Amino acid sequence: MTSLTLIDQFGRNVDYIRLSITDRCDFRCEYCMAEDMTFLPREQVLSLEEFVRLVRIFVGLGVSKVRITGGEPLVRKNAMWLFEEVGKLQGLKELVLTTNGSQLAQHALALKKAGVKRINISIDSLKSERFKKITRTGDLNKVLVGLQASINAGFEGIKINTVLMRGSNDDEAADLVKFAIDQKIDISFIEEMPLGEVNHSRESTFVSNVDTLKLLQSKYSLLPSTESTGGPARYWRVANTDTKIGFISPHSHNFCEACNRVRISCQGELFLCLGQDDKVELMPLLRANPNDDTPIIHAILDSMRIKPKGHDFDLSRAQPAVVRFMSHTGG
Ligand code: SAM
Ligand code: SF4
Repeated sequence: MTSLTLIDQFGRNVDYIRLSITDRCDFRCEYCMAEDMTFLPREQVLSLEEFVRLVRIFVGLGVSKVRITGGEPLVRKNAMWLFEEVGKLQGLKELVLTTNGSQLAQHALALKKAGVKRINISIDSLKSERFKKITRTGDLNKVLVGLQASINAGFEGIKINTVLMRGSNDDEAADLVKFAIDQKIDISFIEEMPLGEVNHSRESTFVSNVDTLKLLQSKYSLLPSTESTGGPARYWRVANTDTKIGFISPHSHNFCEACNRVRISCQGELFLCLGQDDKVELMPLLRANPNDDTPIIHAILDSMRIKPKGHDFDLSRAQPAVVRFMSHTGG
């Protein structure tokens, strides 16, 4: 058989998948979820075995990087089994994780052993009360203990992800960078995206990364870095430190021309773009063909024809750009 790769109609090579293994979470971050979320019944979510099968198929199609995310991936029962199985796949070069950190104290070492190379941990505030307000349920101290356990476990990279919101935590950018420098880890600022309906107007809380960069440049010596992940982040190195600052700016920069990724929701929907509705349902194919991967391979190859050119975020719209939450599609 000739080796198959995933190339879309614009010539972009998809070699990176992001898997949301659950829509559930122990936090309810204000920008990510509504206060009263309804989660999917278990039978509508792929089993861990189905996820491993899908990842194996994608790796056979040339995918070399997999990010496990959610919802909160580490609250899914037996999630560690999935990391161990995916970590064994030949051809996979990078297994990485995005987590809120609440369970890392127990799992950091096992994740490292399973082959996870890098971890992104979401921290939006270093003030306990504010952290509780933003996450609605989170305990900052638990997350910081989890971060320390991850540093001790010796991952190749640890990065903090921060979403700044006007009037909430937008005064903490410099403190968060100082914290990252002290911990010798990286940090990325993610602009709030209009995904799903939350309890505030996105326009009222939006903080542009252009402003955050200007503020940080007035406090730190930042050197532009050419580093690229084929994704939306632009990086700067903080002079004389081990820390890189990333800016993930769907609004200030259109990053779509170099897009190398697709997302798989916890229901097995293959989303071709975070900001568009184009998708292929893989769950029915997986369940109808338990012993034959061919129909699934064909569906994935065919999906490349509908990968859109780019997203279409507009904060001033009354309706969200897409109605599904980031926790459903996988951030
Ligand atoms: N629960 C894990 C966590 O919080 O890292 C993984 C899933 S979460 C959906 C992944 C990332 O998406 C987090 O860094 C979070 O801050 C970010 N995120 C969630 N909703 C967002 C939104 N509407 N706009 C921008 N970033 C968002
Ligand atoms: Fe949960 Fe992550 Fe969404 Fe916060 S951002 S509610 S931790 S999925």
